[in-house]
Amino acid sequence: FDQREGVIWFDGKLVPWQDATLHVLSHGLHYASCVFEGERAYGGAIFKSTEHSQRLKKSAEYLDFEIPFSVEEIDAAKRLVLEKNGQVDAYVRPVAWRGSEMMGVSAQHNKIHLAIATWEWPSYFDPAQRLKGIRLDMAEFRRPDPATIPCKSKAAGLYMICTISKHKAERKGYADALMLDWRGQVAECTGANVFFVKDGALHTPTPDCFLDGITRRTVIELAKRRGFEVVERAILPGELEGFSECFITGTAAEVTPVAEIGPYTFVPGAITKALLEDYMAEVQPKAKAA
Ligand code: PMP
Repeated sequence: FDQREGVIWFDGKLVPWQDATLHVLSHGLHYASCVFEGERAYGGAIFKSTEHSQRLKKSAEYLDFEIPFSVEEIDAAKRLVLEKNGQVDAYVRPVAWRGSEMMGVSAQHNKIHLAIATWEWPSYFDPAQRLKGIRLDMAEFRRPDPATIPCKSKAAGLYMICTISKHKAERKGYADALMLDWRGQVAECTGANVFFVKDGALHTPTPDCFLDGITRRTVIELAKRRGFEVVERAILPGELEGFSECFITGTAAEVTPVAEIGPYTFVPGAITKALLEDYMAEVQPKAKAA
């Protein structure tokens, strides 16, 4: 992955992809003082770019550092990298971290770095294929108590349990894993939020200890536009049996129907299908959609 063609925006400069390296004693690597974003460009326009840039800045603040670029500068930098790389349907990955000046838990004055990489990522939208649904494992690790971590931050350190859980699920033949929270309530997947359908209404866990995804909020808005009731509440794993449909949402997942979670099965139905289509229409660049 590190030997590709193209450029990466690195602390304000465009550098060849292969030269975008950092020092092995970077604080971000040793102590996880690192935050990132995952965004997607459709037809040349990044969907909700500014919201992602704002979340990146906030994520850093939760980790007690400030990214030395404004939201406007970050938005412009993302556009520039996409343009220089000649990409229109792409994944966009900004990442910010503490540098290598001081090595220790405390690194108050280490330089804060920001890099932005983009790569081609077409969205193969085949509703029939997607409506087959994915299979989810139940993760062993639980989302931690918000009193123990900065849960609103899209911080690299919070992904440790996600990677372990996703690897385990994949080795067992599942696409992803559903994580409970520290109370035993349904939380989210390793990189996506989760929704359920029951009696024509949507039910989704209250995001009080995990990321309130930009896709999640978009889908809630689209559901309300359709007149579907949306209930944000605590959901217990014992309730899974009573839901008819299930899907996950995220920048990468978009709206992905779920066919199975452990012993429970779901049939992607009218509501999932409607929201899947509405979301794919919503992400199209506004001028083209009009
Ligand atoms: N939860 C986690 C743990 C994630 O990594 C993501 C992807 N960023 C999401 C939820 C969904 O967030 P979004 O819709 O903003 O991509």
